[in-house]
Amino acid sequence: MSGIPVPPFAGHDDARRFHQLLMLHLSQLKRPGEAVGVHQFLLGQALAPHGPRRDPDAACAECERPYPCRTVLRVALVSRFGVDWSPPGLVRLLRDARIWGARFDDVEVGEERFAWEHEPRFTAERRSDGGWIVTSTERGSSRVRAEPADDRAMIDFIADQVREHPFPFGWRVPAELPAMVADGARAAAGWWSEHGRKPYLSGHDENGSW
Ligand SMILES: [Zn+2]
Repeated sequence: MSGIPVPPFAGHDDARRFHQLLMLHLSQLKRPGEAVGVHQFLLGQALAPHGPRRDPDAACAECERPYPCRTVLRVALVSRFGVDWSPPGLVRLLRDARIWGARFDDVEVGEERFAWEHEPRFTAERRSDGGWIVTSTERGSSRVRAEPADDRAMIDFIADQVREHPFPFGWRVPAELPAMVADGARAAAGWWSEHGRKPYLSGHDENGSW
């Protein structure tokens, strides 16, 4: 057990602890001895406003949705933040954050079985050995999509379903676009070569998880 508070949270303290631990986890995604990367820094900039509000509801300060909001939940999952999620508990969070079921309100969730999506519709059922079997059904025909061996593997499967496919990775990039951002990117590199050496960042050089 990691000790990371598992959402939904009872109050602000657990939500704040979750937020800080997620940010720390993201800061660790580099090699020890490597400088903090500009992308890590920018991810922190993007997520910092999505912390919990300092009130009993502890809603996301940016989205005003229950914390963790969909932005935080996606990053936590895709980055493999080490929360002891249970698969059904996680599916309820994905439903409540409107990551799953937003269009069709079609998420069913029980302790041993859950289903989501719509053409194909995915169904996950717990097997007697503790593993899961995930099938997809589309136009009346079903096939097995995965057989996660345990809850941890099921969480990994869910994380892969949640992952986005952001431009430009895996996309065809129109030839004229890179030149349009080149000056700004060069300016950013110049800024970062100074800013990235500031002590509040370089003090984290020895942190890392691989
Ligand atoms: Zn938010």
